[in-house]
Amino acid sequence: MNGSFRIGRIFGIPVLIHFTFLLVIPLFAFIIASQIVTTADLVAEIYTVPIDMSLITAGYMPYVLGTVISFGLFAGVLVHELAHSLVARQSGIRINSITLLIFGGVASMEEALPDPFVELPMALIGPVTSLFVGLVCSGLVYLTGSIVKDPGAGGLFIFMFGYLGVLNIILFAFNLLPAFPMDGGRVLRAWLAKRMPLHRATRIAADVGKGFAVVFGLIGIVFLNPLLLIIAFFIYTGASQETVAVKYSVLLQDIKVGSIMSAPVMTVAPTLPVTRVIEMMYATKHLGFPVVDHDMLVGMVTVADVQKMSPIDRDAMQVRDVMSRNVVVVSPDTPVTDVLRIMSAKDIGRVPVADTGKLVGIVTRTDILKVVELKEM
Ligand SMILES: [Zn+2]
Repeated sequence: MNGSFRIGRIFGIPVLIHFTFLLVIPLFAFIIASQIVTTADLVAEIYTVPIDMSLITAGYMPYVLGTVISFGLFAGVLVHELAHSLVARQSGIRINSITLLIFGGVASMEEALPDPFVELPMALIGPVTSLFVGLVCSGLVYLTGSIVKDPGAGGLFIFMFGYLGVLNIILFAFNLLPAFPMDGGRVLRAWLAKRMPLHRATRIAADVGKGFAVVFGLIGIVFLNPLLLIIAFFIYTGASQETVAVKYSVLLQDIKVGSIMSAPVMTVAPTLPVTRVIEMMYATKHLGFPVVDHDMLVGMVTVADVQKMSPIDRDAMQVRDVMSRNVVVVSPDTPVTDVLRIMSAKDIGRVPVADTGKLVGIVTRTDILKVVELKEM
């Protein structure tokens, strides 16, 4: 995901942080700190445990606690995503990474088509893990009294574990909502998919998700609650994306690049002047050409490569001066769904197809969309 950087690896899975996450930590810390007395009362009430407030409200302590609880919350989110990832990996799905972002975590996996028998346990384990974390934190609330003798310090721990316990149980409940992209949406889809074709199961699950989004949105408007409006938007777009993604995977299932690529390909030589390439782009309406030297693919030249140069520089340059050399190449046997994934991951619109280094065709986003349209008939 753009705007993410890696912080480490757990169980061999790269863990990334999105920049929105860095914004939300201080915001959460501030919110927790500014409402600390009210929330401590609430925590005391929920667990029916008295909380000594002497240290909690002292000096900068509300902000320290707010920061610790914010990190604790995201540690809980990370454990939740790790649980999904480990169950997925046991079923043979490749896990690319886990990214923590503003609304929690996202595990990026390579799964062509969801299999209900794999998806059901994989989706359920996340909320179950959050419930477990929540219950462990809640258990620690009751243990604190007998371990920490100082009432002030005890108050700190009771508040912290109590707060994290409640948050993780909310995470559990919220994720079980039967609405994409919540885990509950996946559980519903997997349950339906055991009884009907996957694309129908997805459409029904997505419609339920959109229904929830509309209800949340209306409540958000009536009570002027921006958080509910954001969640409504988040669920609605998630549900729509899931329907489209599955539609594509179903329609493009078993189709190989070789059968849909455009061939022969118009290519350019590395020594061709850049001005000539621009003329070719105008004439052919192609936005990029593979660069071929002695029958071998050596690069790709696209509008974006040309645009990087100023018009004056373009006059003196050849294709080899501006072309991209690290070109993603697929083979005629590559499944089209894989190409689509590569295109969206790398944000490219065309991928050359080569057979043992020799260029045999090119596949564009438009080619794939045309196949989808034809298949939809
Ligand atoms: Zn989850």
